[in-house]
Amino acid sequence: MRMFFAAEWHDRAEHINVTNPFNGEVIDTVPRGTVADVDAAIATLVEGAKLMRNMPSADRCRILRKTVELIQKRAEEFAQTITLEEGKILAESRLEVSRGCETLEVSAEEAKRITGEVLPLDAAPGGAGKFGFTLRVPCGIVAAITPFNFPLNLVTHKVGPAIAAGNAVLIKPAGDTPLTALKLVECLLEAGLPPQAIACLTGPGSELGAAICTDRRVRKISFTGSYDVGTAICRMAGVKRVTMELGSNSPVIVMDDADLDRAAQLVAMSGFANAGQVCISAQRILTPRTRTADFLDALKPRVEALTIGNPLDETTKMGPMIRESDAVRVENWIHEATSAGATLVTGGTRCGTLHAPTILANVSPSQRISCDELFGPAVAVTPFTDFDEALALANGTNYGLSASIFTRDLDRALRFAREVDAGNLHINWGTQWRADFMPYGGLKDSGTGKEGPRYAIREMTEEKMVVIH
Ligand code: NAD
Repeated sequence: MRMFFAAEWHDRAEHINVTNPFNGEVIDTVPRGTVADVDAAIATLVEGAKLMRNMPSADRCRILRKTVELIQKRAEEFAQTITLEEGKILAESRLEVSRGCETLEVSAEEAKRITGEVLPLDAAPGGAGKFGFTLRVPCGIVAAITPFNFPLNLVTHKVGPAIAAGNAVLIKPAGDTPLTALKLVECLLEAGLPPQAIACLTGPGSELGAAICTDRRVRKISFTGSYDVGTAICRMAGVKRVTMELGSNSPVIVMDDADLDRAAQLVAMSGFANAGQVCISAQRILTPRTRTADFLDALKPRVEALTIGNPLDETTKMGPMIRESDAVRVENWIHEATSAGATLVTGGTRCGTLHAPTILANVSPSQRISCDELFGPAVAVTPFTDFDEALALANGTNYGLSASIFTRDLDRALRFAREVDAGNLHINWGTQWRADFMPYGGLKDSGTGKEGPRYAIREMTEEKMVVIH
């Protein structure tokens, strides 16, 4: 495919291969964009931002709704593309397509609800007779820098609110998964988005990313990706608005009063979807010492039922990891933990990018598989003695994106919600659940700011204060 900027599709002499992570086959190529392309893209987006700022919200809403219709017509093509470039199984890709549509639909609704507030200025000394209100105006140009693991929905989480709020958008999709984002641009253009208001540049993340993030014409950076790249962007950005949606190693606390079968079923879902490559994957499973064996008995058959293979095959339950180097990293971290005394309950094997779904038990919290972000198909089970210890273990991490507890005790559930430092807290479900309209974002090193169209629009608009004297 070609990339889109300066109101046109562009090719370049140099290309980058897009490969199928399952078998390494080249499925397409994209141009290798340059720093000069970033400059040209932003110059046109400045014009696009003016068009968007003057576009009535009803029209912005209509464009987003039309985009949803166009994606829905091509839903199976989008799903196949996601599976081919990202490696998740088709059922998960189809779900992602419907979620991407939902995110755009909610953004379309929110386009009509951007309001300010009236302030009682007569409450201030000398304020009698004055009238004050706030106005929300678009930021101008929003840079949307996205990760590989949800090539459609995490792009719509930035593009939808940015357009709803009246901005121009520069998408820098992940190097491994640019095709879905380019197809989304096709739909946005066909739906009537002014071509000056959108760009999607393909090419090396660090080179293009640095040019985008240091450009003063970009007012807002919305980034989803790893902690390290997020930190580098924050250093480069200077005075800009920044949203950081970063990684995690989400804990699940299974209390002694929990329904173990249900907890096991939901841990299997939360830990292994998309081969564990989800920012809110369940990674650390904390179980009462006295019930750990029963919990493992319930979890093991469910994890062993996750057959791995070609994600295009409808019978496959788990596909490959994005790159072989990531699968090797998972293999190494598992090996480190077992060398330090952890027990391999199931899995632990690897063939190329396919890593078997793995359970480790008796894992020390100091192991990398417990304290870093694994982003792969394994869970680390660690026993605790009492609830205080469970809460301390859950909080014993730099991350804070999602956490969950299984218990029938309301007092414990509420204490968990108050005391565990995570942006998303689930009671009697796994860590991996999201409605796309809810406020979503991490605490601590998991990031700053919120997504979910209503909340993202707040971060993609500027607030002005107007006083009539
Ligand atoms: P990544 O950080 O490697 O890349 C993310 C994006 O940043 C890509 O588009 C990449 O090209 C770009 N990039 C790379 N170097 C850059 C630089 N120097 N300047 C600017 N941009 C640069 O992440 P990934 O491997 O694609 O995705 C996995 C990570 O994303 C995990 O840590 C995961 O937890 C996180 N993630 C977080 C959320 C969330 O909502 N919090 C959701 C999904 C994924």
